[in-house]
Amino acid sequence: MQENVDISKLSGFKTKASTRYYFQVDSVDDVRQLYDIVDFSYKNNLNLLFVGGGTNLLFAFYEYDGIIVKNNLSGFDYNPQTKKLVVYSNEDISNVAEILEYKYGNNIWHRFIGLPGTVGGAVVGNAGCFGLQISNNFLNATLYDTFTGEEFCLDYEQMKFGYRDSLLKGQSRYFLVKAEFDLSQKIEKYHSDVDNIYFRKYKQPKGNSCGSFFKNPSKDVSSGLLLEKAGFKGYQYKDAFFSQQHANFLMTSKDYTDFSSLIYLKDAAQKTIYHKFNIWLEPEVSIISNYK
Ligand SMILES: Cc1cc2nc3c(=O)[nH]c(=O)nc-3n(C[C@H](O)[C@H](O)[C@H](O)COP(=O)(O)OP(=O)(O)OC[C@H]3O[C@@H](n4cnc5c(N)ncnc54)[C@H](O)[C@@H]3O)c2cc1C
Repeated sequence: MQENVDISKLSGFKTKASTRYYFQVDSVDDVRQLYDIVDFSYKNNLNLLFVGGGTNLLFAFYEYDGIIVKNNLSGFDYNPQTKKLVVYSNEDISNVAEILEYKYGNNIWHRFIGLPGTVGGAVVGNAGCFGLQISNNFLNATLYDTFTGEEFCLDYEQMKFGYRDSLLKGQSRYFLVKAEFDLSQKIEKYHSDVDNIYFRKYKQPKGNSCGSFFKNPSKDVSSGLLLEKAGFKGYQYKDAFFSQQHANFLMTSKDYTDFSSLIYLKDAAQKTIYHKFNIWLEPEVSIISNYK
C-alpha cells in the first residue's frame, strides 16, 4: 500500500484530491489481499473506496481519510459459438464493445461504443444508453467478499438492478472481479435512431465531467430540460459550470479545480429546481466524502 498519493486524475472531474492510502489491484492475487486491507481500514477507522474508470465519481474532499482501491484487472474471453462473454471488471467497456463487433462480428454491445468507464463500473451503476443497459445481457458476477475472504457469484435476480443502480452501488464490502454476459440476443429497453458513435464524438460536451450529473426524475421528465428551464445551461461558478451544450453535464474548466465549486452548483441546482418545480434532483454521480 502506498501513502499520500495524488488521485486528482482518478475522477472524471479531475478535482484536486489526494488519499492517505492507495492500493492497486493488478491481479487476482491482489484481490485476495483486500481481506487484510479492509481489516486494516476497520482497525484504523478509515474509509474505503473501489475505483474503476472514475467516470462516475465526484471526490468531495481534499485528502481522502481512507484507502483508495484502484482496480486494474483486465482481460476477457468471448466464445463465438455460445456468444458468452466473461470479462474482468476493469476492462474498458467501449473497447470491449468495439472488439466484439469488429473482430467477432457481434454487435449486441454496439450501443456501448463510446461509453466511458469500465465494465465493473457499468455493472455497479447499471449503465445504459440509447436503449441498452448493462443488465440486459447480464448472467452473473463474481465477487470477492472482503469481510470473509471468499469468492461467490450473484445472478441477475440477486443483483437487484434498477435505474442506474444495483446491489453493489454505494458499498465497499464486495469487490467485483468479473462478470459474464449472454450476447446471443439483442434486448433493448427502447429503440433509438441516434448514431451513438457520431453522438459521442460530436454532440456530447468534451472536457472534465462525469456525464449526466442528475438522474432523470421520471421517464417523461429530463433533468437536462428542468435545468435549462431554470437557467442553469452554461451557468458558471468559479471553475465549475453546467455545459452550454447539455445542461445536465456538470463540468470543470481545468484540472485540479476545487471540488467545492461543483458542490456549490449541485446544491444551487437542487434548491432552485425544488422551489420552481417541486422536484428534488438526485445525483447519478456518486459523491464521495470523508463522512463516516
Ligand atoms: C462523457 C460521459 C458520458 C457518459 N455517458 C453515460 C451514459 O450514456 N450512460 C451511463 O449510464 N453513464 C454514462 N456516463 C457515466 C459513466 O460512464 C458510467 O457511470 C460508467 O459505467 C462508470 O464506470 P467507471 O468504471 O468509471 O466507474 P467508477 O466511476 O470508477 O465507479 C462507479 C461506482 O462503481 C464502483 N466500482 C467500480 N469498480 C468496482 C469494482 N470492481 N467492485 C465494486 N465496485 C466497483 C465504485 O466504487 C463506484 O461506486 C458518462 C460519463 C461521461 C464522463
